[in-house]
Amino acid sequence: MSHELRTPLNGILGYAQILRRDKNLEQRQADGIAVIQRSGEHLLAIINDILDMAKIEVGKVDLYLSDVLLERFIYFIAGTIRLKATEKGLAFSCDMAPELPAAVRVDEKRLRQVLLNLLSNAIKFTETGSVRLRVDWAPPTRLRFEVQDTGIGIEEAHRETIFRPFEQVSDARHRVGGMGLGLAISRQLVRLMGGEIHVESRRGAGSAFWFELDVPAVAREAADVPLEWTASGYHGPRKTILVVDDVAANRAVVVDMLAPLGFEMAEAGNGLEALQKAEALRPSLILMDVVMPGMDGLEATRRLREMPEFARLPIVAVSAGASGSDAAKSLAAGANAMLSKPVDLTVLLSQIAVLLDLEWSDDTPHEAHGPAIRIAGSFTDNFIVPPHEEMEALHYLARLGDMRAIVQHTEHLTELDERYRPFADHLCQLAKHYRSQAIVSFVEQYRGAHGAD
Ligand code: ADP
Repeated sequence: MSHELRTPLNGILGYAQILRRDKNLEQRQADGIAVIQRSGEHLLAIINDILDMAKIEVGKVDLYLSDVLLERFIYFIAGTIRLKATEKGLAFSCDMAPELPAAVRVDEKRLRQVLLNLLSNAIKFTETGSVRLRVDWAPPTRLRFEVQDTGIGIEEAHRETIFRPFEQVSDARHRVGGMGLGLAISRQLVRLMGGEIHVESRRGAGSAFWFELDVPAVAREAADVPLEWTASGYHGPRKTILVVDDVAANRAVVVDMLAPLGFEMAEAGNGLEALQKAEALRPSLILMDVVMPGMDGLEATRRLREMPEFARLPIVAVSAGASGSDAAKSLAAGANAMLSKPVDLTVLLSQIAVLLDLEWSDDTPHEAHGPAIRIAGSFTDNFIVPPHEEMEALHYLARLGDMRAIVQHTEHLTELDERYRPFADHLCQLAKHYRSQAIVSFVEQYRGAHGAD
C-alpha cells in the first residue's frame, strides 16, 4: 500500500521543492508553491501516521539506535515548538536538568516523533497560559521527559480512551488537523523503547504527560552530526548519473533536481534498459528504483555487480516502501546506499557527495542573484545575538542545510524580540541565497559568545 500512496506525493513534493528554488518567481506564485509544499507535507504526515499505525499493529517497527547529542536534540525540538507556541500566544519553557549526559543512545527519529506529538497536543489543547517541557536524568541510565500544559484537560473517564487509535475526546473545535492517531502511536513507540506514557490531568486545569526510558549515556565525540550541503554545483570533471525508474514523472523529478547542478543526466525505464545504458554511457552513479515491471532494480543491481567493470560503480537503491526489508534486500543485491521516496533533495545531495567523493561549490554567481552578500565581520558589532537555545537550534538547522527552516526561524526571532532583527535579516538573506557554509560559519561565530561547545 505504501508504494501507491507515496509515489504520487513524490511528484508533488519533488516539483514543489524544485520550483521554490526558482529566483524569478512572483510573490503570488512563490506563496502558491509554498502552499502546495506545506499541504503535500501535511498529507505525507497523515499517510505516514496511518502506515506507522499499521506497521505497529503487526509488530513490524524496528528501532534504529544512534548516539545523539542530547542538548542539541532537545533545543531543536524546543525551537520548533516555541515557534508554534508563540504563534498561538502561549508561553513555552524548556527545563533541562543540569546533570544531563552530553549524549545518549536512542532512536532519535522515534523519540523526536513522540515528543513533538505530546508537545503539539499540549499546544493544540491549550488556549491560554503555557506549555512546558522538562527533561530529567537519574544516573546511571534513567531519562525522563514531561510535557505539561495549562489547557482544557482530560476527564478521568477519557484518560485511557485517548490512547486508542482514532479516538478524539475533545469538542469539534479542537479536532482540526488531527486524526486521533498521535497518542496511540506514541504509546506504542514508548513501549517499544521500554517505557510507558503516563498522564495526569483534570478537566479545565491542564495536563501532564510523562515517560521514562533507560538509555545508555555515550561520549560526546561519538555523536556529532555529519554535515550536509546545499549546493549550486560541484568541483571537478562533469559526471553522468543514470536514473532508473519505470514512472517517467519520478525520473523527471530527479533529473530536474540534479541537472541544474551540472550533472549529465541519463534515464532508463526498467532494469534491462538500465544495463544497456550503463554499458553505453558508463555513468558515475546510478539511482535505481527497486520495484519495476520486467527486470526490477534488485535484479539489475545484481547483474551489474557480476560485470567486473561495474563492480565498484556507486548504486543508490530508491524505494517507495521505505521499509527495513527493502533496504536489506537492496544492500544484499549490491547497492551502496538506500534512498526513500519522496526523494529529499538534501539527503540525495549528501549521498551523492559521499559516494562520488564530490566537493560542492555553493557560491551563487552574483550577477544572477542580485548584489553580493556581505559576510559577517564588517558590521558584526551591531548585532544583538539571540539566546543560547535559539543559537543551538539555528546551528542544528544550518548544519542540516535546511534553508527553509532557517528562514522560518528568523521570522520567529524577530517576533521574540525586535532587537534581533538585524541578526535575523542577515541570516535570512544568506538562507535565501542557499549559502549554507556561510550560515554555519556565521552562527558558529556567535554561538561562541554564549560559551557553547
Ligand atoms: P489528535 O491530536 O490527532 O486528535 P491524539 O491521539 O494525539 O490525536 O490525541 C487523542 C485525543 O486526546 C485528542 O483528540 C484530545 O481529545 C486528547 N488529548 C491529547 N492531548 C491532550 C492535551 N494535552 N490536553 C487535552 N486533551 C488532549
